[in-house]
Amino acid sequence: MDFTTSLIKWYENDHRLLPWRETSDPYFIWLSEVILQQTRIDQGTNYYIRFIEHFPTLKDLASASEDEVLKLWQGLGYYSRARNLHFAAKFILNSYNGQFPDTYDAILSLKGVGEYTASAIASIAFNLPYAAIDGNVYRVLSRFTGLDAPIDTGEGKKMFRELANHFLDQKNPGIYNQAVMELGAVVCTPQSPDCKNCPLNDSCVALRDKTISMLPVKIGRTVQRNRYFNYLDITSGSHTFIHQRKGGDIWHGLFEFPLIETVAEIGVDELILNKEWSDLFDGIKPVITGWERVPVHLLSHLKIYTRFIRIDLPEEFDLSEKYRKVLKKDIFKFAVPRLVERYLINRYE
Ligand code: SF4
Repeated sequence: MDFTTSLIKWYENDHRLLPWRETSDPYFIWLSEVILQQTRIDQGTNYYIRFIEHFPTLKDLASASEDEVLKLWQGLGYYSRARNLHFAAKFILNSYNGQFPDTYDAILSLKGVGEYTASAIASIAFNLPYAAIDGNVYRVLSRFTGLDAPIDTGEGKKMFRELANHFLDQKNPGIYNQAVMELGAVVCTPQSPDCKNCPLNDSCVALRDKTISMLPVKIGRTVQRNRYFNYLDITSGSHTFIHQRKGGDIWHGLFEFPLIETVAEIGVDELILNKEWSDLFDGIKPVITGWERVPVHLLSHLKIYTRFIRIDLPEEFDLSEKYRKVLKKDIFKFAVPRLVERYLINRYE
C-alpha cells in the first residue's frame, strides 16, 4: 500500500476522538485550529469546550466584547490569537453576513489565519484539496521520505509543500490532512516514535537508514531576550490599581498592576530611586510591606524575570489617570497574563 492509502486506512481504524472531529462546521474547526496552535491537546480541548459553550455561533463570538474574549482566553498565551479571532468573527459577520467563507483565498485573508490554518479549514470543512502542513506533518514527511531540507528556510518549506501536495488525497483532503497530523501527534512523535506500530514502517526511509533522530532538520534558533518586570501590588484600603496593556507589546489588552520595567535586575532599594517610581508616587512615601520573586516566565522569544512588590497606600490615594482603582476582590474579573494570574492565585485564593 502507498503512503496515502496506508495512512488513511490507519486513521479510519484508530484515531483519538476529539470534539472538533465530530463536526464539519467551519466555525468550530476554525476555533479548534486557532486554540490548538502552540497548545497541548488536553489544555486546548478544555478551552475549545469553554469557547463553544460561551459562543455557540460565530455571531455570538462577534457580538462579545474584546475583554470577554480575552478573559475566556486567559492562560492560553499568545493573546493576539484571541484578538484576531474576535476581529475575524466580526469581519465575517459584517462582510459575509455571518456565513463562513468557503474558498481557500477568502479563508486565508481572515486576520490571524495563515496557510496552515486556511488549508486545514478549507479541506476539513469544505473538502477543498489543500495540504495542511504543521510541525507534525513536517516530521512525518521528512522521516518517511528522508528529505533533510531544513524546514525553517524558504527553500526547504517549498520542497515540503511539493511533497505534501504530491501525497494529498484529492478526493478526501480533510481526512488525509487529519490523518498525517494525527500520525505525527501520536505515533511519529519527536523523541520516541512508535515505529513498530506505524502504518508506514515498511517503507520509511528514516527507519531504514536509522536517521530518525536527525529528522526533520532545523537550522535556526530563536534567541530569547531577557526582560525585567517589577509589578506594584498596591493596597489602598480595599482597593488596588491596575491598567490595561496597550501598544504593540506582548499581552496587548490584558490587565496588570502598575509596572516598572528595568533594563536589568535591580534591588528594591534601587527601584525606589527610579524616575518612574517617583513620577508615580509624586511626593508620597509609600510603605513597602514585602516583595516576592516568581519563577522566570518563558515565552517563545522572551524570558521574563518578575518581582511583585507589595505596597500600602492611604485609602484616599489615587494614581494618575493611567491606572484604574478597583476593588481587590474584583481583580479576578479582569483578564490578566498567566504570570500575574499565578501570583494572584497564590496570594488571594
Ligand atoms: S516508521 Fe517511525 S519514523 Fe517512520 S514515519 Fe513511522 S513512526 Fe515515523
